[in-house]
Amino acid sequence: MRQQNQKTALQKQLGELKQKVAGLQGGLSQVRKSIQELTTVKPGGGYAVVDRIRCTGCGLCEQLCPVRAIKVTYVANIDAQRCTGCGICVQNCPHGALSLRGR
Ligand code: SF4
Ligand code: SF4
Repeated sequence: MRQQNQKTALQKQLGELKQKVAGLQGGLSQVRKSIQELTTVKPGGGYAVVDRIRCTGCGLCEQLCPVRAIKVTYVANIDAQRCTGCGICVQNCPHGALSLRGR
């Protein structure tokens, strides 16, 4: 009888612990979600395009793009899918060859 009582008490404790663990896991996934939202670069709503006549192929924009959306082969080529529209390349192109276009 005493063993049965001990077993019941342990099962109750185990159930409570499981509930606490589930609660902690829920909190952890919420924290993970918040961290992901805070660290994701928010799209600027557009993407960069290059004026192939003005571009000299200097490569500055390729170095500055935070998401590596630009590859320079003679002139800059922009991966519009990857581009977040942050505008860094547009602001820094020494020849005014870049601009943002809405999606
Ligand atoms: S910074 Fe301007 S000129 Fe230089 S590669 Fe990029 S688009 Fe061309
Ligand atoms: S706008 Fe930003 S993300 Fe897009 S190509 Fe320029 S630097 Fe890269």
